[in-house]
Amino acid sequence: MPRLRLKIVGLVQGVGFRPFVFKLARDLDLRGYVRNTPGGVEVEVEGDKTNLFLERLTSERPAVSRIESVDTVELPCCGLEGFFIEASSGGDGSTPVSPDLAVCDDCLRELLDPADRRHLYPFINCTNCGPRYSITTRLPFDRSNTTMASFEMCDACNREYRDPRCRRFHAQADACPCCGPGLSLHVANRRFVHLLGDDPLLSAIRILKAGGIVAVKGLGGFHIACDAADADVVELLRRRKERGNKPFAMMAADLDAVRRFCHVTEEEARLLKSRSRPIVLLRRLAGCSLPDTVAPGAGTLGFMLPYTPLHHLLFFRPSDTPLPHFGCLVMTSGNLPGEPITADNGKAVAKLSGIVDAFLMHDRDIFTRVDDSVVREGSVIRRSRGYVPEAIPLAGKGPEVLAAGADLKNTFTLTRDGSALVSQHIGDMEGHETLLFFEETLEKLRTLYSINPVAVACDMHPGYVSTAWAEAQGMEVFKVQHHHAHVASVMAEAGLEGKVIGIAFDGSGYGPDGTVWGGEFLVADPRGFLRACHFRPLPLPGGEAAIREPWRTALAWLLDVAGGRALDIAGTLGFPDRYGEERVVNVLRLAGLPEFSPLSSGAGRLFDAVAAVTGIAGVNTFEGEAAIALEHRAAAGVDGDYPFDIREGDPLVLDFSGTLLGILEDIAAGRGSPLVAARFHNTVVRAIISVVERLRTLTGIEDVVMSGGVFQNRYVTERVVPGLTDRGFRVYLNRRVPANDGGVSLGQAYILREWLK
Ligand code: ZN
Ligand code: ZN
Ligand code: FE
Repeated sequence: MPRLRLKIVGLVQGVGFRPFVFKLARDLDLRGYVRNTPGGVEVEVEGDKTNLFLERLTSERPAVSRIESVDTVELPCCGLEGFFIEASSGGDGSTPVSPDLAVCDDCLRELLDPADRRHLYPFINCTNCGPRYSITTRLPFDRSNTTMASFEMCDACNREYRDPRCRRFHAQADACPCCGPGLSLHVANRRFVHLLGDDPLLSAIRILKAGGIVAVKGLGGFHIACDAADADVVELLRRRKERGNKPFAMMAADLDAVRRFCHVTEEEARLLKSRSRPIVLLRRLAGCSLPDTVAPGAGTLGFMLPYTPLHHLLFFRPSDTPLPHFGCLVMTSGNLPGEPITADNGKAVAKLSGIVDAFLMHDRDIFTRVDDSVVREGSVIRRSRGYVPEAIPLAGKGPEVLAAGADLKNTFTLTRDGSALVSQHIGDMEGHETLLFFEETLEKLRTLYSINPVAVACDMHPGYVSTAWAEAQGMEVFKVQHHHAHVASVMAEAGLEGKVIGIAFDGSGYGPDGTVWGGEFLVADPRGFLRACHFRPLPLPGGEAAIREPWRTALAWLLDVAGGRALDIAGTLGFPDRYGEERVVNVLRLAGLPEFSPLSSGAGRLFDAVAAVTGIAGVNTFEGEAAIALEHRAAAGVDGDYPFDIREGDPLVLDFSGTLLGILEDIAAGRGSPLVAARFHNTVVRAIISVVERLRTLTGIEDVVMSGGVFQNRYVTERVVPGLTDRGFRVYLNRRVPANDGGVSLGQAYILREWLK
């Protein structure tokens, strides 16, 4: 009779794997045990049907689990009896922790079933759903190693936990109203005190309905919620949160509710309903009834569906009406401007009392903060809750390294063996609180997986906080050029190790020549790069100021192309009316002074300038605002484009002067901005294809990699990708990490790992 010992590696903890093995083994009349080890799951089975066991182990595994490898050793039969789930064994801590999972349908049914003992219990969960990464303090994933450790299970829960027929068999975070966490409501604004009743949840719903703003503790931190249909309260929240025009994320009652406001494709519906429950960016319907202030002037809205039982109850808590309480709620991160998300009850009250009227809280602690993830069909914009800490497999094994990332949209990356752990979204590193969040998260992930990096990678930018931080660690530091890291992030994901044509378009990144780069064509591999072609640099009058005010960049470009006629042209474009005659004259003068106008080849700045010239947007209240508006304005079905030049030299220089002249001609001829925006985008597409073809002629390379925030522009990617593929190129984009600076740490880590090999 065979006896097998299996070592199973992959996403096999916190996903109901042991109960599944237990049931399968009993089903097949096998004896032995299953237990979590820090490296994964270990199983011993003895009996006649071990082959069938192996087969069904992979074919019937829990939907959320992932098996990377099964290591099988045959042992002499030793007459085991029964089958047991054994206590976890300690060890080296390399198994993945599951990301946090949205509440499952079985739990939702029980939640709304008056006969169930967890009826309306906001913390219902099971082996298939509930908090994971955010509550895990140590590996393996056992209750004692989570923030649920302080809640002792009652008898009823304990019976379920031990009953192999129950779907809560070995559910580590399980709880019920008798023994688990509970809700509380704290009213911060006296105006709403009269709405406070016995039931915290109903009280919160009443406050929201009365036009109040409520902080709601979720899975990875606090949200700030208000009724999205109420323009006044949304506007008030925008003011209190000093939000500029940046769109608010929203949570809708269900898919039907989302469809009342946005177009939803099948793939988008799948994303909305996936277990990761990200915020999905969707095209706003023409007749969308939501007030414009939820996302001023934006063509897309970010929606997510309820993912905790508490969220479901906010919408569907039974009352006198069967309808949901709200069609959708604004659900923005609970933080102060420039700070990371708040997760601790006391800190939330201390920090957010000036913004919200009440706090809906609970006493299950969040150990690790994770913001909501943001995705768009086909790409990830912010990778956090529901995705982290899932490992990204890398080609081959390598040393353990740390990469500190970039300063905007920071993430960091740790590697071990054949995989990379990319952290959740950390934020913009200027804020002191963000740096603390960076350090805290790094320490937690490093400890959880016992990774001891031998070296640290960072950006070359001398002014980056992340660079200064890396230099202070007492480790060997390797500086990676920003756009090389962007390109390498795609190579890491796609497992590319040879030379590629790497296109990195973003707002700005430090160039080793001391200028700002960002419209780059590199010939690169993981070891190094050559700058093969770049956008012709433009002066940014006032430096940082030009990034906030794209009309300044537009003036510099006009001066560059039209010289002395720039002021007149600016006049016909309406600049003096919009920005003031005196400022226009001053900025034009500034544009001619190199010490006040640093040069930038940033592709983002070109999009900015076109948005300003066409009058679509002259100011960025958040990163990418003008470029996003320009893309949104572009008309569909436009074929034409504008002239551009590829100027000889090493590197080649891509010059869009002719493009500006073409744009000015179209504007003078009275052609509308939708047409101009489309033709400009078409020009960028054609320019990319032309340069890439030139580089193929020079190098013979046919693998093309595209990264950087500009490639979040779908108008461009949806045309460049088929354009290049039709010409015989293989094209790769970021899939699992963001194309924006959130992906830079993965690229840095990949490069450093190669250097050390
Ligand atoms: Zn469940
Ligand atoms: Zn209980
Ligand atoms: Fe960048």
